[in-house]
Amino acid sequence: MIQKEESEDIFMKYYVNESCIGCGLCAGTCPEVFSMSDAGVAVAIEAEVPEGALDSALEAKEGCPVGAIEEA
Ligand code: SF4
Repeated sequence: MIQKEESEDIFMKYYVNESCIGCGLCAGTCPEVFSMSDAGVAVAIEAEVPEGALDSALEAKEGCPVGAIEEA
């Protein structure tokens, strides 16, 4: 088993705050982390972001038009 180097960057969580306007961009950019709820707003997974989705999750955060995605 390969040991991962310890890095704070690897352990990442996001949450979507109440500013979300439900545009769907984040769910399209990083479906591993973001999805649209029945209420029409985005929700982030409660678990840490999977390593393979770190880049796309960050892209989703930076692409959110209202800055609704924050680091948890
Ligand atoms: S990109 Fe931002 S505004 Fe659009 S659904 Fe995601 S969190 Fe909501």
